[in-house]
Amino acid sequence: MLFLADVIKVLRLKRHSTFMENRLNTIMNANSPIEGKNQAKSWLNRRYHNYSYYLQKTYGEKIRKVSLHGGFTCPNRDGSKGFGGCIYCNNDSFVPHYINEAMSIPAQMEVSIPFMQERYNVQKYIAYFQAYSNTYSELENLKQLYQEAVNYPNVVGLDIGTRSDCVDEALLEFLATLNERVQVTLEYGIESIHDQSLKWMNRGHNYESVIKAVELTKQYGIKVAGHIILGFPVETREMMFQTGLAANNLGLDFLKIHQLHIVKRTVLASRYERDSFPLFKADEYIELVADILERLNPDIVIQRLFGDAPDDILIAPRWGYNIPKLVHLMDLELKHRETWQGKLFLS
Ligand code: SF4
Repeated sequence: MLFLADVIKVLRLKRHSTFMENRLNTIMNANSPIEGKNQAKSWLNRRYHNYSYYLQKTYGEKIRKVSLHGGFTCPNRDGSKGFGGCIYCNNDSFVPHYINEAMSIPAQMEVSIPFMQERYNVQKYIAYFQAYSNTYSELENLKQLYQEAVNYPNVVGLDIGTRSDCVDEALLEFLATLNERVQVTLEYGIESIHDQSLKWMNRGHNYESVIKAVELTKQYGIKVAGHIILGFPVETREMMFQTGLAANNLGLDFLKIHQLHIVKRTVLASRYERDSFPLFKADEYIELVADILERLNPDIVIQRLFGDAPDDILIAPRWGYNIPKLVHLMDLELKHRETWQGKLFLS
């Protein structure tokens, strides 16, 4: 029945690229592709260790992240590390329209939670500081913001997105105390492990900085997520592949993978409009991510495989598929290969 449902779903997709037609032919010719020993590697019917599965297993129920705006900026914008920011960065992609930095944390929660309850039918939440560098402030201010977030009813976790050069031992010591009450995760923007690429994107730190921050964070018993971007025009496919597999050596708990997006009001957008360069097609990106997943430690939880930018600021690539369709195409790719996360992982 699963096989038939997949075929029907594929037939219903509006765009019929060669990629999808190939996948459809493969599925129609395959023999029960998710049975036997493969089934044991299925995480909630997915072939990779997905975040929904992890949350269900950890908390016993559905959990959603609530995005919060702590009024932060970024040291790569205000001059303390650099000016102008990373060339692809436009934080409008991260902040929900119904909150803003002028609102207190409890006020943001009050607006966001009814929305979450109605849309996703969830009762527990992870407070998520996402936009800008969310550890870039005085420690006392950080303590107050994080405490307000975790003290809000039904908050079971605290996720903080930041840069590897914006953490120190005093902060980690404090987060370790919060970690006794709720699960704390620090999410570092890695983007690439190649220093020449980090320089090209005006990242303002090197890969060594990431290695050190991850090691230090783990010493405090705090979970670590890493965010990478695949598709920088200055990188070969092999370089991107290496960045994907670095999660194994870093010992990340969570990984987010994102295709390079060109969004409005960024340096990259100006460059792209002046002199466009090739970006991944959906099938090429999916094939690369599948190559990475096969070799990734199966303990690493995948929080995201595709980036999503608001339609009104996204310039390229425009694949024409929403996230559920892309996730479905990824499932088909893994099924077609009769593979799963970690099948080729060498521990
Ligand atoms: S991507 Fe992050 S580190 Fe880079 S400029 Fe934007 S907020 Fe700063």
